Amino acid sequence: MARSDRLRWVAAGSPFRLMTPARDLRDTLRRHGYTVYDIGNQSHLEHDPPEDHTPYSATGYPGKAKYGIGYAVDVMPPPSGARSKVDGQPLPSLQQLGAQLLADRNGGVGGISWLKYMNWEPQRDNGGTCYQESWRPLYVRRTSTDRGHIHMSGLTGFESSTTGAGYDPVSRIRGEDDMDKAERDALFEVRDNLRRWFGGMKDTATGAALSPTIWRIRDEQEFQPKVLAALSTLTGKDFTDEDAIIKGVLGGLGTKPAADVAQALVAAGQNPSDLAAELAKLAKTPS
Ligand SMILES: [Zn+2]
Repeated sequence: MARSDRLRWVAAGSPFRLMTPARDLRDTLRRHGYTVYDIGNQSHLEHDPPEDHTPYSATGYPGKAKYGIGYAVDVMPPPSGARSKVDGQPLPSLQQLGAQLLADRNGGVGGISWLKYMNWEPQRDNGGTCYQESWRPLYVRRTSTDRGHIHMSGLTGFESSTTGAGYDPVSRIRGEDDMDKAERDALFEVRDNLRRWFGGMKDTATGAALSPTIWRIRDEQEFQPKVLAALSTLTGKDFTDEDAIIKGVLGGLGTKPAADVAQALVAAGQNPSDLAAELAKLAKTPS
């Protein structure tokens, strides 16, 4: 029965796409450095009944699974000592990751609301208890024998949902909410662009043209407030007479070219002990 399902699917050209929120989570976890699988191997594809790693699942819930759509991913344990390729911090274990997914699903976090069930081991990989946490529709915990990875299956009805866009359980484990991340990303972009500009590069990290003209245009709405914010975070640091200097600089910013402010910030970033001198120089420079 299941073998004929696979042969019919191959004859149809092997149509396959992962349901959108599972794909978003798969891509987010892969960016961090996890190995994540989606479509099953031949034994999965010929299993009877065909389940969520196949594009013709017979275990859809609450509706019938759509032909050609995959509903499941497997996250494999990271090698010991592995670090995130996104933030450089240690990759969370499957135990940490599973605990976050479970807490988020039970906490009503929208980004993981598509989860039908997950199989995982809360204590260690391939040891201790193994559970299936299931929401069909009410939360129930059962024991499971599906060890060695985190298996996640999605609900029908979410095939093209964008609810998982931006959901990142790793950054949530780090204790960052979305706003922290947005602010950090914005600051990182400003710093990176400044570094590129002063380094004589022509493009931003995303390939957009980087030029003083663009910076002057951007300054009208975006750049100067960010510079002001960056400067204000320096207040209270242990620089000689920093209070007066920073106040003086902030007071004079309205008439300073953004490029001068940026130059001072970059110089300060390269050698923080020169901050006071750089800011003092800026404060004295006629605009
Ligand atoms: Zn699986």
